[in-house]
Amino acid sequence: MLAITPWRRGVPDFAVTSPARILVCAVERRCSICGLALGNAPVWRVVAADEAIAIAMDPTGFENVASTVEPPGHRLCMLYAAVVCPWLTRPNARRRLDADVVGTRLARGDARGATGEIGGAVVSFERYEFAVGARVEFRYRGPLDFRPHLLGEEHVPALREGVAGEPAPSESCPPWLMQDEDAASARAQRYL
Ligand SMILES: [Zn+2]
Repeated sequence: MLAITPWRRGVPDFAVTSPARILVCAVERRCSICGLALGNAPVWRVVAADEAIAIAMDPTGFENVASTVEPPGHRLCMLYAAVVCPWLTRPNARRRLDADVVGTRLARGDARGATGEIGGAVVSFERYEFAVGARVEFRYRGPLDFRPHLLGEEHVPALREGVAGEPAPSESCPPWLMQDEDAASARAQRYL
């Protein structure tokens, strides 16, 4: 269950994400996957192939690229998303990396998996900003860690290791990010 998945008549609708829930997570600095607080730590996101290459080639210049509707989350939550979400790992989203990029620029972070083709990456950023228009749009600043993948399954060992070492959460997902869609809408309305 994702915090940004809307519920209709008691059933989660995985086909879409809820702008209201995304807004609530953005304002409250909550993870879009689990709904728990992000704190002041760097935030994580799964990026597609084109964006992964843009970050790898120019981590500083990347800050000027267009905003995205993809909200942030915890490291383990985003590793999990990269492993299990089919739309993040579809084969036609792959791009070929230049040898130059693989050899030098990807030295930052974990370059395993970047052997010529890239499907995307799990990336951490110092911070995010967001703006509310027709949709909630995010801008991510200061790329820190960069973990490229071809299919996403490359992240399974890091995910397994992270989950094993993770302490039990001291909070639970707030009620307005659970099944009650009216509560989610009311919360979002408060922030508009
Ligand atoms: Zn999370």
